[in-house]
Amino acid sequence: MKERRPIIKNKRTLPVIANAPPAFHLLAKPTGSTCNINCTYCFFLSKEALYPNEKSRMSHETLEEYIRQLIESHTTPEVTVAWQGGEPTLMRLEFFKKAVEIAKKYIKPGQSILNTFQTNGILLDDEWCAFFKENNFLVGLSVDGPRDIHDAYRVDRGAKGTFDRVMNGWALLQKHGVDCNILCTVNAANEMHGGEVYRFFRDEMHADWIQFIPIVERATQETLEIANAGWAGQAGRKRLLYTQSGTLVTDRSVRPKQYGRFMSDIFDEWVRHDVGSVFVQLLDVTLEAYFSSHVMCVHSETCGGAPVLEPNGDLYSCDHFVEPKYKLGNIHKTHMLEMVASEQQRAFGMDKRATLTGQCRQCEFLTLCNGGCPKDRFSLSKDGEPGHNYLCPGYELFFRHTRPAMSTMAELLRHGRPPFEIMELIKAVDERSTRNRVAPHYREAANSKDRAIGDHA
Ligand code: SF4
Ligand code: SF4
Repeated sequence: MKERRPIIKNKRTLPVIANAPPAFHLLAKPTGSTCNINCTYCFFLSKEALYPNEKSRMSHETLEEYIRQLIESHTTPEVTVAWQGGEPTLMRLEFFKKAVEIAKKYIKPGQSILNTFQTNGILLDDEWCAFFKENNFLVGLSVDGPRDIHDAYRVDRGAKGTFDRVMNGWALLQKHGVDCNILCTVNAANEMHGGEVYRFFRDEMHADWIQFIPIVERATQETLEIANAGWAGQAGRKRLLYTQSGTLVTDRSVRPKQYGRFMSDIFDEWVRHDVGSVFVQLLDVTLEAYFSSHVMCVHSETCGGAPVLEPNGDLYSCDHFVEPKYKLGNIHKTHMLEMVASEQQRAFGMDKRATLTGQCRQCEFLTLCNGGCPKDRFSLSKDGEPGHNYLCPGYELFFRHTRPAMSTMAELLRHGRPPFEIMELIKAVDERSTRNRVAPHYREAANSKDRAIGDHA
């Protein structure tokens, strides 16, 4: 269907657009890329180079414009207001109190707001956590695992590990009963420790909602050395502007197969003990994919529903493509719905499917994987075709490894039974295979005894 041009061009009113999405997941970065720590793998920090002369703080005028347009654009009962960084706590609490007030002013009858907030946790205190609780914020805390693993890359500006300060933030969030989840990157320091990292979150932190994202930092032959050194070359220097280019990766990046093993190890633990009690995003969305439903953009057929807003009102196609080529416009000039429904953004989303390699199109896991995120498509396929996903060997490994149990859980659901019944089924299989593993020893022992008896006879 052809898109109608907006009838009303005034930026202060909602355009009427055919085919406008009923909802989208916009990430707002009120401090842009500014952060109070200095994680070595964080390419977002370099984005300050895009705004060299601007103060990276969202003004109240932009804040009001953003919230109003976001609410106006949604026709769904729930509107997600997602705060990210850089580090959003650098905006101070007053800013978010104002944001909550503005949302109350514009919310439509029958609609509710869900605020989400991604933080490194370092600046959290009782006041912040009481505010989160009072306003039902869902807070994501960035943790990469136990102390040694976390501190490998999540360091402050003095290169000191941040583990203790992050755990202090977690304790405060728990004390106030804030809804929380853990966001853990999978990188070269933790890629061999999937089970250990998962058990740390579950048993030590008592987290029940965990999300894992692979670190894939691209570099070119020219940028690799400086990229490996933390993108700045030397302390105090400005970072190189990170763009999605190059076919090399930094030493901190997760290795493809190891990503698959990491997630498979977590799956093995989860499927035996935690189905229904611990929510692991990739596991949950994989099960959903067995019903042809995709709730995470990375494995959806197309993308484009997750634009990102910079402090000055600039809107980009995606958090991973904050580059001049992917700028959609500015909310002070154009209504965000017009930009989200624009031909440029539609093409960005559709390209994901249109640029699949031949190997992906033939792949037995295509309906689960959909070729992964376009930002990671810089490898060669098995046939030598460029534009194949760097993480493919890991995806294949993970989807193959989880298929028997995932199919069984999907079958349980189709019969109206809870998927956690899988744990009993697997327990029975494990017991049988233990018996079968033991049995050959009995047989061996029996055989050797027979032989011994025979030898003596
Ligand atoms: S480019 Fe990647 S991260 Fe961005 S919306 Fe598409 S799949 Fe999601
Ligand atoms: S597993 Fe690999 S080949 Fe299959 S769809 Fe995913 S990226 Fe493509």
